[in-house]
Amino acid sequence: MRYYSTNNPSHTVSLSEAVIKGLAPDNGLYMPQSIPVLSRELIESLPEMSFREIGYAVIGALFSEDLNDEQIQELVDHTLVFDAPLVGVEEDVYSLELFHGPTLAFKDFGARFCSKLMSMLVEDKSQKLRVLVATSGDTGSAVANGFLEVEGVEVIILFPKGKVSPLQEKQFTTLGKNIIALEIDGVFDDCQTLVKQAFLDSELNQKLQLTSANSINIARWIPQCLYYFYAFSRLPKTRKKVVFSVPSGNFGNIGAGILAQRMGLPIDHFVAATNVNKVVPEYLEGAPFHVKPSIPTVSNSMDVGNPSNFPRLQALYEGNEGFFRKKVRGYYYTDAQTVEAIQKVKKQGYILDPHGAVGYLGLKDFMKSHPGYIGVFLETAHPGKFRDVVERTLGEKLVLPDRLAAFLKGEKKVIPMKKDFDTFKAFLKSLE
Ligand SMILES: *Cc1c(COP(=O)(O)O)cnc(C)c1O
Repeated sequence: MRYYSTNNPSHTVSLSEAVIKGLAPDNGLYMPQSIPVLSRELIESLPEMSFREIGYAVIGALFSEDLNDEQIQELVDHTLVFDAPLVGVEEDVYSLELFHGPTLAFKDFGARFCSKLMSMLVEDKSQKLRVLVATSGDTGSAVANGFLEVEGVEVIILFPKGKVSPLQEKQFTTLGKNIIALEIDGVFDDCQTLVKQAFLDSELNQKLQLTSANSINIARWIPQCLYYFYAFSRLPKTRKKVVFSVPSGNFGNIGAGILAQRMGLPIDHFVAATNVNKVVPEYLEGAPFHVKPSIPTVSNSMDVGNPSNFPRLQALYEGNEGFFRKKVRGYYYTDAQTVEAIQKVKKQGYILDPHGAVGYLGLKDFMKSHPGYIGVFLETAHPGKFRDVVERTLGEKLVLPDRLAAFLKGEKKVIPMKKDFDTFKAFLKSLE
């Protein structure tokens, strides 16, 4: 399969170039040149298949020109080491819990798949692949845990000293092994600048194989389509139409759902649910697409004013704006509405995290004006990951899952570093 750049469809590259480069040289996002459609028989037999079997079929359809069966199986097995249960919350309303992975957020799926695929695609195995990541929290933990102990790859995480929540910090500074955490005396933007400078430095790039595992990488984006197939297959048999509501920030997750739909999964509608960073809901209502500065909210992983995957959504609808606006409905919510939803659903015996709460609200509003649907909202993080907000909202302590509690006990190991490029470069050159 060739992958084209959304900025120039005639520029295409191989799978390995798309994955190792991440972003196209013209700043476009890579997209598969053709989207395979699964047979009706396969779609009908999904309920009898396990999550991994679904993974082999879907990933096989997308990657069989580039990977052999054994590699496809290895990739899927490495990725799907935890479940994604579908939990009934109300009549016809289901939560797809995507937080059972190592860092308790859905980004674990993409990070695990990406790490394994990168290690398969590196041609020069004599040299380690070095993944540079600047993080303000979430990305660092998902990438670090996804790449932990993956052969031939070393991850270097740059994070701003004192600017990341203690729990998030523990999730990438206590791992050791092939994960190195650099504590930069600066802010997130300084970390980002250092990483960008390293990618532009010809001396470093001659000496080291450098890459990024940035969220727009197809190797993080594509595997997210798997849990849509799985969730769909676990819904009760019904004649009702199916809608998925996705709490969205950069719009990668919902884009992967639309990819599943284009592959033949009969999802009727999508709901793009956001906090007050509502660029896309406004676009869907007919406004032009207008990037804005981001506004801080309680669902802070979705505080995005310039959603990076938007060109991918346009590409999936082949530039047909009318159809895009018809099939994806947008809703947005304030923090007050979000915490109110957490309180309301808790009374029904289910605890939402602030992101899932936004997804729940979007689903309910859609279903109110569109009777006859069965709906799924994506629960993208464990409520314990946002315990400050959730505990304050509910007035009670949450029980943290064991693996989150285990991170808190780990010993923090970091290399403190000033924010100047020469120091960072000297450090990178010292790696063998
Ligand atoms: C990253 C993230 C989102 C947003 O996902 P996108 O793919 O960027 O739209 C939602 N919820 C949580 C918990 C996240 O970490």
